[in-house]
Amino acid sequence: MALRDVLKFPDKRLQEVSTPIEKITDEIRELASDMLDVMYDEPGIGLAAPQVGEAVRLIVVDTEWVEEDAERHPLVLVNPEIVESSGRIVWTEGCLSVPDFEADVERASNVVLRASSLEGEGLEIAASELQAVCFQHEIDHLDGILFIDRISRLKRNLYTQRRKKQLRRELEEPSGS
Ligand SMILES: [Zn+2]
Repeated sequence: MALRDVLKFPDKRLQEVSTPIEKITDEIRELASDMLDVMYDEPGIGLAAPQVGEAVRLIVVDTEWVEEDAERHPLVLVNPEIVESSGRIVWTEGCLSVPDFEADVERASNVVLRASSLEGEGLEIAASELQAVCFQHEIDHLDGILFIDRISRLKRNLYTQRRKKQLRRELEEPSGS
């Protein structure tokens, strides 16, 4: 089965604000399942629907999953929002949509997230450190924000230029070389 492609910066669709999910349909369940497949395949610890080209407020997260054979604890979160946040933490972040780049980002160290499960039940999750960072990073995607929007303009410009060069090279070289 083919996996969905992950959109990469500077794809404009990554800047869109996603719409709330009003009804959990079979399509939404299928999308969530596809997103989990992509996340575990990459591998990543989180993925937001706009990263696979669907502008709806849905994220999947598994911050406990570290190795291929480790037990999986997927969280599928519909219409997630941060309702409380406190503290500050600096974490070195990366993103499946921002190839070959990591940077330190400052965020809240503790958050309370509210969402709905795929079964439509209300969830409230208190998170700290990595999980808190991941929740904020993924919800940012739903608002069209990438982690490189939260670093200094200088660092962002350096990355943007490097990425443009990389894309030009990919265009010039035949694929697979
Ligand atoms: Zn990301």
